[in-house]
Amino acid sequence: MNPVEERAESAVTKDETKNPDEPSDERLDDSAGGEVTPPEGEASAAADVPEEAAEPLAIEPPDVPAEKAVDEPPKEGRREGRLARLRFTKKKDMPGGLWLKCESCAEVIFRKELEEKGRVCPACGFHFTLPGRERISMILDAGTWKEFYAELTALDRLDFQDALPYAQKLQRTVERTGQNEALLCGTGQILGRDVVLAVLDFGFMGGSMGEVVGEKIALACELARETRRALIIFTSSGGARMHEGVLSLMQMAKTCAALQSLNEAGIISICVMTHPTTGGVTASFASVTDFVLAEPGALIGFAGPRVIATTLKQELPPGFQRSEFLIDKGMLDEIVPRTELPVMLARLIDYAAGPIVVDPLPLESPQAESERDPVASEAEIVPVGRSRPPGAPESAPDTQDDADRADEARRREPGGEDA
Ligand SMILES: [Zn+2]
Repeated sequence: MNPVEERAESAVTKDETKNPDEPSDERLDDSAGGEVTPPEGEASAAADVPEEAAEPLAIEPPDVPAEKAVDEPPKEGRREGRLARLRFTKKKDMPGGLWLKCESCAEVIFRKELEEKGRVCPACGFHFTLPGRERISMILDAGTWKEFYAELTALDRLDFQDALPYAQKLQRTVERTGQNEALLCGTGQILGRDVVLAVLDFGFMGGSMGEVVGEKIALACELARETRRALIIFTSSGGARMHEGVLSLMQMAKTCAALQSLNEAGIISICVMTHPTTGGVTASFASVTDFVLAEPGALIGFAGPRVIATTLKQELPPGFQRSEFLIDKGMLDEIVPRTELPVMLARLIDYAAGPIVVDPLPLESPQAESERDPVASEAEIVPVGRSRPPGAPESAPDTQDDADRADEARRREPGGEDA
């Protein structure tokens, strides 16, 4: 059983043992909370609450019909008996996690409302961890997502033995999540701009970076370079995947090299660090993109705060390793709330894609029109550093290339550089 299900189950068990007469808030405090994603199909389970389970436990939202409550006279013995019966029989039917508690402000939130708001706490704005696929549908224009490299699967090269052997753990995770690896990679559009998108899913082994994740980041860089699209990466990770040993650490060098080649090709790369981004992912590709953004309140760091506090034997400052702390240290470029991310990303892509327009030619001058080389009118985008050196002959020799001719034509116009 994965930790999510485990928590949901244990929450249900706790709920059952509580007295239904207590104020509902207190009872709800124990319901499955936290940043983790609900198990698959939970939403549908919530929609059709089994009647028997829903009545005595009263953890349903306030819109439960009033007559239901009236129909149930508060007879101690009856309730006790029912509770006892529930403890042993109704565990499976419980609608686990209808409500959850905000990690930050402890507000009890109706899960459906939270999902509608992009998993941002309506009370305090805390950003819950977003599952990979949900992230993609939030960021990209509807219907533009096309996944690439989904078939790549990890190999257990080291025959790693854990409490559960790595191969088995991997297989279970693949079955549970319906995806082969922690990184989802593909193409799509953000407000009409073509992008290559790579999203780390924390729900898949903590978004850890093994061979496949590293390889997919490198492939995404190559895809972005070949198609000349901006590369957008969302990280949410516990770091390198220890089950793959040194092979996972090698991905740090590989992903950085791939991003460097993308940089040399003049393609923009943007990383959005989300809660939590730690370990080898922070220390490699997440930190070396052209722009490094983060969601509010995200935990970002290499080692965890507890490890650092123990090592340094010092108390850490408040807000340590959170986005708001790190932006002051220069590690981030901007903190962007989740709902504003598409607009911000589109703006940055436009900024990077803007042509270097050098002094566009005024078209109203007939003299300039007649003198201008036909090529020059198309050559408004002049490579940087191609201007004629001072003292060079005014009439361009025939051997000059197009860019220089464009430059020459511009100079002759009134208001040009030489005028
Ligand atoms: Zn909150």
